[in-house]
Amino acid sequence: MYVSPNSGSRADLLVIDDTLANLRLLVNLLRENGYKVRAVSNGYEALETIQKSPPDLILLDILMPDLSGYEVCKRLKLDVNTQDIPIIFLSALSDGLDKVKAFTVGGSDYITKPFQVEEVLARVKNQLTIQWHKKQLQLEILEREQAQEALRVQYQREQALNRVIRSIRNSLEISTVFSTAVTEIGQLLQADWVAIVQHFSQHRSWQPIVEYFPNSDLAKLVNAKLSSPRYLLTERLKLLQTFCVENPQEILDEFNQDLVEQYPRIWLQIPVYSDGEVWGSLSIVRHHSVPWSETDVELAVVVTDQLAIAIGQSQLYQQLHQVNQELEHLANLDGLTQVANRRRFDRVLEQEWLRLRREKLPLSLILADIDYFKLYNDTYGHLAGDDCLRQVAQTIHQTLKRPADVVARYGGEEFAVILPNTSLPGALQVAEHIRQAVFNLQLTHQASPGKGVITLSLGVSSLIPPMDEEQQILIQKADQALYKAKKQGKNIVCKL
Ligand SMILES: [Mg+2]
Repeated sequence: MYVSPNSGSRADLLVIDDTLANLRLLVNLLRENGYKVRAVSNGYEALETIQKSPPDLILLDILMPDLSGYEVCKRLKLDVNTQDIPIIFLSALSDGLDKVKAFTVGGSDYITKPFQVEEVLARVKNQLTIQWHKKQLQLEILEREQAQEALRVQYQREQALNRVIRSIRNSLEISTVFSTAVTEIGQLLQADWVAIVQHFSQHRSWQPIVEYFPNSDLAKLVNAKLSSPRYLLTERLKLLQTFCVENPQEILDEFNQDLVEQYPRIWLQIPVYSDGEVWGSLSIVRHHSVPWSETDVELAVVVTDQLAIAIGQSQLYQQLHQVNQELEHLANLDGLTQVANRRRFDRVLEQEWLRLRREKLPLSLILADIDYFKLYNDTYGHLAGDDCLRQVAQTIHQTLKRPADVVARYGGEEFAVILPNTSLPGALQVAEHIRQAVFNLQLTHQASPGKGVITLSLGVSSLIPPMDEEQQILIQKADQALYKAKKQGKNIVCKL
């Protein structure tokens, strides 16, 4: 019963009565029963005392000169700082106590004079108990609201973090990961600028890779400033330190100091590392001067860790992509002559056959065979033979002008040239150029019964691919033409 609803210590009561005998009686009674009691004898003094130090409970005489108890009560109820203090009115029945009015103006209870000790104590205790429960309830509501708010904030953060992580896992495009990260963290931390800044150690420079700006004025400023290569926060980042900047004096370099001075704000800077070295930083700026909370920093660090993983993944992916491309290239190349191999020839011929069949356009094929090549190998050896194959392959390759034309090593000393969108006269012309170019190489072939140099025989076929035929028909025809060229004395071009 002695406990204050506010402080947990003894309850603090204020007694207000203009009759000193009443005042003394009540003060003594209440003190004897363990309360802390203050006493005043008029309304104005009461208001002043209450303003300075609000009591837990007020006992208030109704009939007083100057300011009545009702008036004091009304004024207290109008002030947010005092409106919750319970008031017990004191009145003699002979004073004409208006019970309804007492409650209407905001009184909690009333006691009639002459005072009965038990009644006074019971009513005081009653009001203090009600007040204590009220406070407890308010406290519980507040705690619940705070807990709910904390949960809401935590939920929002987890959602945002999940979005960032999902984006990182779902995207091989590092730029998508970066832009998701800065937008999410910018919105979540109510930042005015978020940037992922990459450090280029060779040039000793920093460059924002991606930025988030809810405020476009700042965007202009930052972009202008970042053209300066000086970004000396590097030293802090190199120590792998996360740090907050709250005072422009802390920032030594010109670029950052300018910004901090123009915009009263705080910076949060977190290093992003890859392979144990500083790759760059996540830089977050807020105008309003709410300090970074521990959870803000934790969240930013988690995002930064995810970024580091994404950067590592992206680098691996790029390497893998490059290796795959090299492998793909190698898989399509003839190792000896460095022109397309038979595998690629088959694929290109099929693709072009289908495409030109749809488009009803001609496809031509040249098959070229080195004359007396077995004799060349027997005479000069296989190393010289390989060298000869390389030279002939490269010569054919150089003769072709259009990117879609493909030369492939078809067999031992046999080459094939695919000429899409080329009719027979065009293909014959190309074949003749090839024959001439190889002849012009003047590769000595003493054992040859022909011209004493390496020559080619070439067979040409050309077709607008018919609907009911496959590309083998084109190969057969070119092969027959080649056979004809061989029969007719070699070093010539034949068509079928
Ligand atoms: Mg009185």
